[in-house]
Amino acid sequence: MNQTQTSHGAREVTSPDAAVLSRLVKRFRNAKGEEFTAVSGLDLRVRRGEVVAFLGPNGAGKSTTIDMLLGLTQPDEGSVRLFGQAPQGAVRAGRVAAVLQSGGLLPDLTVEATVKMLGSLHSGGDPELCIRRAGITELRHRKVSECSGGEQQRLRFALALLSSPEFLVLDEPTAGMDVAARREFWAAVREDAEQGMTVMFATHYMEEADQFADRVVMVDQGTVVADGSVSSIRAAMSGRTVSALISPQEAQAVASLPIGVRSCTVRGGRHFFDCTDSDALLRVLIDQTSASEIEVAPRSLEEAFMAITHRRRADQEVL
Ligand code: ADP
Repeated sequence: MNQTQTSHGAREVTSPDAAVLSRLVKRFRNAKGEEFTAVSGLDLRVRRGEVVAFLGPNGAGKSTTIDMLLGLTQPDEGSVRLFGQAPQGAVRAGRVAAVLQSGGLLPDLTVEATVKMLGSLHSGGDPELCIRRAGITELRHRKVSECSGGEQQRLRFALALLSSPEFLVLDEPTAGMDVAARREFWAAVREDAEQGMTVMFATHYMEEADQFADRVVMVDQGTVVADGSVSSIRAAMSGRTVSALISPQEAQAVASLPIGVRSCTVRGGRHFFDCTDSDALLRVLIDQTSASEIEVAPRSLEEAFMAITHRRRADQEVL
């Protein structure tokens, strides 16, 4: 803990980290009233100035974690500290701001009126500057209801900037946007992040993590399964998947050979092998089995998750 003078005024005790999430747990009840764990002992430390992608498939627990990070939901167990404070305090002080997927906009107001109205709630907020920083100058006279999804997200970004936050949290901000709109959105955010802002964004687009983040935190089933630089995660994900039409008995025999088969799953009648040595596997399939229609493909993101986690997905049959 350090004593620092912040841009928000008085001297205060603060942490060198933007966010520290410790052993976070959140449980929900499903429609049948059964309890399940959406976030399961998640630990994460975001250092100041980092741009972190929070990457995971749908249902991994990203939004639930972000809601707890922002103090919108209370964890069942564990704790969240933002700049050494409870989340509500840091959000109220304007040190942390969020761009969420929906809500917060009035359809009949213009873009400019929206930013000015919310700007009047933040002493020191500069609506004109935020409009420029978010790249929405040319949209200023358009009604919110006439803005595309991507334009509305850039407006939410402008609103998030009003408090001059040190830490910006974005929950799947580009969900549903086309490629061009996603590129424009990230260009606007990137320019700001380059000024030293801490950014954490949830996404299930690997390429967004790749192009924009310094660090990728992969979540699956409510817990962190990989955490590292973009290049280290890419290296862990590299590899190929071998699939073939083969009998279950032969597939089982191949999987038990000492050639590094980590898992074998069946989808649409094909067996998919996740293997550390795809060349050895190919030789075995060709020379020692009656396998047909053998295919080798780069791993998809989904397969990479499986390779990293070794987890089995419920909709797949496991040997
Ligand atoms: P992600 O953002 O990674 O897609 P979420 O955090 O939205 O994942 O959801 C994690 C799991 O928790 C999902 O199974 C989702 O259906 C469930 N969930 C999220 N919010 C609620 C809620 N309010 N009530 C019940 N289940 C929820």
